[in-house]
Amino acid sequence: MDDTLYPLSSGLNLACRKNIEEFMLHQLHIDESEVPRMCLDLYREYGTTMAGLKALGYEFDNDEFHAFVHGRLPYDALKPDPLLRNLLLSMPQRKIIFTNADKAHATQVLNRMGLEDCFEGVICFETLNPPNTPLDCADAPEANPTILPHSTPSKILCKPSIEAIHAAIRIACVDPKKTIFFDDSARNIASGKAAGLHTVIVGSSAVVAGADHALRSIHNIKEALAEIWEGDAEEAKQVVLVEQVIQSTAVETAVLA
Ligand SMILES: [Mg+2]
Repeated sequence: MDDTLYPLSSGLNLACRKNIEEFMLHQLHIDESEVPRMCLDLYREYGTTMAGLKALGYEFDNDEFHAFVHGRLPYDALKPDPLLRNLLLSMPQRKIIFTNADKAHATQVLNRMGLEDCFEGVICFETLNPPNTPLDCADAPEANPTILPHSTPSKILCKPSIEAIHAAIRIACVDPKKTIFFDDSARNIASGKAAGLHTVIVGSSAVVAGADHALRSIHNIKEALAEIWEGDAEEAKQVVLVEQVIQSTAVETAVLA
């Protein structure tokens, strides 16, 4: 979704990173001199900075983090995109959003762009990381004193981990061999390819490792992947759009975006 259905130049990505850095500084009290490098290092290592912070053992409420980071984004920069809307609605395949962001952010983005009814569903942070079931205090503490739920680093499931890709494929009930995965992140594309998906890197004119196609803009999808509109409807080709773009020729069937 992000930087795939709309361009990186919208400024949301930069604003998001600044908000994450502010959260690290003011809510987690991480030293100011450490924040920028740590933010980037954790993003690279764990898929998202949030996942990295959790893995290091920082404790914070997931919803509060998302509200802080996404709640103040300059959503006004996102405008209705009737061209993209028409392209999506004209595709005969299923289309599903697959984003590391939370549900509220996905809803904001899709509503602002006028795309809220273009996708069958949204696989987001809450989908892959449902709230923990409260520990049953009746039998946990004495029975197993090594259980320390408040100090145990928690693992966030997110792209680009192959487990997250597999989970999305399972939840969406798609055949990866009949699904096209669009994403703006080269590492997500590499994982998508490893999971057996057809892949399209969006926002880049150059094909990256693991990408079958490259799209400068999602608006070029019809020129690059005319097959999407030529598919045999009887084969019920599945399309799941997951966050990226396309640019070359020959393609197959589904679309995850
Ligand atoms: Mg993205």
